[in-house]
Amino acid sequence: MPAVKLSQISGKLFIGGQFVEGRGGRIDVINPARGEMIGQIAATTAEEVDAAVESARAAFRVWSRVPAKVRANALHALGELIAADVLNMAQIMTSEQGKPLNEAKGEILKLAEACHFYGEEAVRVFGEIVPNDQNGYQSQVVREPIGVVGAITPWNYPAELVGWKLCASLAAGCSIIIKPAELTPFTALAIAEKVSEAGIPAGVVNVLTGKGSIVGQALVEHSGVDKIAFTGSSAVGLHIQRSCPSVKRLSLELGGNCPMIVTKSADIDAAVKGATRRSFRNMGQICIAINRIYVARPIYETFLDGFAKAADALTIGDGLDNPAADLGSMASRDPLAKTRDHLDDALVKGARLVAGGNAPQGPEFEKGFFFRPTIVADCTQDMKVMSEETFGPLVGVAPFDSLEEAASRANDTPYGLASYVYARDLEEIYQLSAELDYGNVAINNVDAGIMNAPYGGRKQSGIGYEHGREGLLEYFNFKHVRLFHGVGA
Ligand code: NAD
Repeated sequence: MPAVKLSQISGKLFIGGQFVEGRGGRIDVINPARGEMIGQIAATTAEEVDAAVESARAAFRVWSRVPAKVRANALHALGELIAADVLNMAQIMTSEQGKPLNEAKGEILKLAEACHFYGEEAVRVFGEIVPNDQNGYQSQVVREPIGVVGAITPWNYPAELVGWKLCASLAAGCSIIIKPAELTPFTALAIAEKVSEAGIPAGVVNVLTGKGSIVGQALVEHSGVDKIAFTGSSAVGLHIQRSCPSVKRLSLELGGNCPMIVTKSADIDAAVKGATRRSFRNMGQICIAINRIYVARPIYETFLDGFAKAADALTIGDGLDNPAADLGSMASRDPLAKTRDHLDDALVKGARLVAGGNAPQGPEFEKGFFFRPTIVADCTQDMKVMSEETFGPLVGVAPFDSLEEAASRANDTPYGLASYVYARDLEEIYQLSAELDYGNVAINNVDAGIMNAPYGGRKQSGIGYEHGREGLLEYFNFKHVRLFHGVGA
């Protein structure tokens, strides 16, 4: 099994089962820990978009009719090929995204797991027989794949966020055109290489690179694309919804500003551990990152003390040189600038800095987008960190006096993606899990998403689901077939 090499995929598009040299201009891709160019992507032209759609439409006709078992086997083969090349694929991801190599390896293996999960689900897509109001009739509800999917993805999880859409499409019998983020295109192209090795027919999977406002928008507007599966910011998600010129299926996995509530009954050490992991992992560049924490007043200072020490203890490094570092660099200048802006805003409005607040010192950090994990305390709801998505290693903390107050402040943003609770009292747990207006509530843990359960946001955090049976059903149309057979009529 050949390893994917950056030089082989630089400047390439994957259309009709072939890596082709892009005919448009070039966009540099930078290693954000080193400030060095690692390759270039092609800006896909309008003609190339049309070619990819044409190829995906032709492939759909074939792939949608292939037995589910064959699609399942293809997914299992893809999962095995990806897992077997984990180190190489992780190196590509770390080079373009900045996360530590061990974390990138973990993400690649989760992509492989997604292939196997959807491979298993592919053969379990059942229809229904529905009772009729007269004898002699049978109503079947059958599920048919939607068609050509346009998948538009962000840069924070370059493998998984492509993978969930890819695997669900393949399992359902859809074909797919993937438009990865400009910052992290090579992981998607490396996945395409594995698709080709897995023997998935030409045209079922295509990858187009380039700017979202041009190539992504072209997929949104294209009459040959039946569904847009988008993960990204709420602003771009809303723009996609508004700018879609025709009725089209949309799933939108958007931004968040995720709260954590630590009640007086909580195991404080466990809460500190959970907060440290979910606030700072991937440098806080996670849609389900904890942005703000409400802590019961009697344990407020104890929690803060432990949290600040745990944040200060996290190691930061160049993700290729320090595979086991806790944190790598941020993915680009923009999220770093936003983090600094939200920090300044909180400090000007009276927050107390208890950890971090600046870039780590040393020659190894000079060229990259590094920042220390940062905690601000005594935050008020009017601070940006408490209401907007930071998407960086910054978290705001505030005390609360009643559960009602904690739940109401936790719900007081336009977002509804994930929320977290640490509590041991059952009444507190039940009250909070009922009141939190979020698609995901994790209690006494911070891993809100598992492959076997639906994952999606409410309010401005999106529509639709990924993961689980619900995630797979997003790729189907239902058809009601009402048959008169006459028996018993
Ligand atoms: P973004 O919205 O800027 O870009 C996402 C993708 O959309 C990119 O591929 C981009 O090129 C493309 N795009 C941009 N403009 C477009 C347009 N007009 N038409 C079509 N496509 C367009 O987001 P980002 O900065 O890459 O990622 C960070 C955001 O993603 C955060 O807000 C984060 O919360 C969100 N996110 C959400 C989830 C989730 O599951 N809900 C998961 C990860 C990230």
